Amino acid sequence: MLPALLLAAASMTLIVGVRYLLVSGGFAWLTSARHPGLYAGLDRQMRREIGWSLASAAIYGVPAGVVMWGWRTQGWTRIYTDLDAYPLWWLPMSVFLYLFAHDSWFYWTHRWMHRPGPFRLAHAVHHRSRPPTAWAAMAFHPLEALTGAVVIPTLVFLIPIHWGALGFVLTVMTVMGVTNHMGWEVFPQWMWRGRLGGWLITASHHQRHHERYGCNYGLYFRFWDRLCGTDEGVGDFAREHARAGARGGRVDAGGRDAGRAA
Ligand SMILES: [Zn+2]
Ligand SMILES: [Zn+2]
Repeated sequence: MLPALLLAAASMTLIVGVRYLLVSGGFAWLTSARHPGLYAGLDRQMRREIGWSLASAAIYGVPAGVVMWGWRTQGWTRIYTDLDAYPLWWLPMSVFLYLFAHDSWFYWTHRWMHRPGPFRLAHAVHHRSRPPTAWAAMAFHPLEALTGAVVIPTLVFLIPIHWGALGFVLTVMTVMGVTNHMGWEVFPQWMWRGRLGGWLITASHHQRHHERYGCNYGLYFRFWDRLCGTDEGVGDFAREHARAGARGGRVDAGGRDAGRAA
């Protein structure tokens, strides 16, 4: 039993690490193609982001691997594989519940981590990325990574979910974690500036958190920020893009456009 458990934990760590390298690497490459020079002068910071993120991969991977092992061999969790086990409407509902639960947990733990003690102890690591890059998605102090690592492995014991829907949740989690730190808006303007953007968090919203600290704490939805009066709207990439220019980077017309648009 122990070797199988260790193997599951190690494999999941590898999967999370490789997934991070591929997705962050892919979006970093897209950044260099769409906004050349945006990450100029940030090489040391990016190396640090990758180091912290790979450490986080183990912290995310171990509980996920153990739960995965329990699901496959011990009948743990409420993950189901038979589509007919629940009505079809439960598929989108379960996705929403997972995202909302994760967002709620994130909002309140994140807000707490901005108190002076926890900030100095752990969250400062994430905010050393100024401005963050696509590599900062999992750049957390191990203590903070631990608060994130328990969420999905706990939810699968509480809320039934089809494994395909769970895959979708994990994809949203990965892509949003990367794109929210990327320094430019990958989604169309109608989405993040329109009515939908009033409720959904994309890069423009999280960028402002990295600029001002005491606001915009949410992960996927602006619900808690708006309810608690901590929402300060969406950020402006113009300053970051100008700074990149000053650091020796060359931000193309697309970058200036994105800045103006924001
Ligand atoms: Zn962040
Ligand atoms: Zn923060």
